Amino acid sequence: MSAQSILSVRGVSRSFRGLKAVNEVSFEVPRGSICSLIGPNGAGKSTFFNLVTGYFAPDSGTITFEGRDITGFSPVQVAHLGVARAFQIAKPFPGMSVTENVRIGALFGRAGPRDVDAVTTQALELAGLAALHDREARELTVGQLRRLEVARALAARPSLLLADEPCAGLNPTETAEMVTILRRIRDAGATIVLVEHDMPAVMQISDTVLVLEAGSLIAQGKPEEIARDPRVIAAYLGTDE
Ligand code: ADP
Ligand code: MG
Repeated sequence: MSAQSILSVRGVSRSFRGLKAVNEVSFEVPRGSICSLIGPNGAGKSTFFNLVTGYFAPDSGTITFEGRDITGFSPVQVAHLGVARAFQIAKPFPGMSVTENVRIGALFGRAGPRDVDAVTTQALELAGLAALHDREARELTVGQLRRLEVARALAARPSLLLADEPCAGLNPTETAEMVTILRRIRDAGATIVLVEHDMPAVMQISDTVLVLEAGSLIAQGKPEEIARDPRVIAAYLGTDE
C-alpha cells in the first residue's frame, strides 16, 4: 500500500448463496481524495461499503485502512478507527432536534478525546445546518435530511467518509449544495468514497472514479477517462438507469 493511500483493497471477494456480489476487487483510495464508485444496480456497491465498514467479512482478500489490516473487524472497531458511513435512507430520531441527532454521531464514532459540543457545532456548520439546529428532525425536507445524515456521520470525526447516494432524490439546487458540502468536507481533511448515480455530480466532484459491474471492477481512472471508456459506456453510462 502506498503512503498516500488511506484505504487499500486487495483481491476482495464476497458471495451470497453462490452469487459473487464482489469479485476479486483491488484498488487504492488516495488520502484526501474524493473517489466515486459507480455501476448499475446490483453491481456490488453497497456490499463493498458493508465490507469496508465490517457489516460483512470478505470471503477472501484484505482491506487495509490507515496502514492497518482491518479485514474481519466489527463495525464498532472500524468506526472507532475513523470510518463513518452516511446512509442513503437517513433514519434520524424524528422527535429530536437536528443538534441532538448530530450529537449522537459525536458521542459514538471515532475513539479518543473529543469536545462533543465543538464537534457537533462543526459538523452542523460543514453540512450547512447551523441555521436549522433547533428544528425537530421530522420537520426537515428530503434535502435537509440528507444533510443531517452527512452531519451525523461527520460528527463521528471520520478520516474516511463513505457516502451512499447523498444526491439521490435531490433537486438540482440541493444537489449543487451537496456537492459543495462534500468538497468542504474533503477540504477539511477527510477522504470520501462516494456511491452516486447522479453522473454530472460524479463527474464534477471526483478525483477518481471506479466502475463496478456484476461485482468486478471494470474500469478506474479520472472522470474524463471514465466518461470515454467504451466498456463503461456499454455497462453503465449508455443505459437509461
Ligand atoms: P448495488 O449496491 O451496486 O446495487 P449490492 O451490493 O446491493 O449492489 O448487491 C450486489 C448483489 O449482491 C446483488 O445481486 C444483491 O442481490 C446481492 N446481495 C447483496 N447483499 C446481499 C445479502 N445480504 N444477501 C443476499 N444477497 C445479497
Ligand atoms: Mg446499493
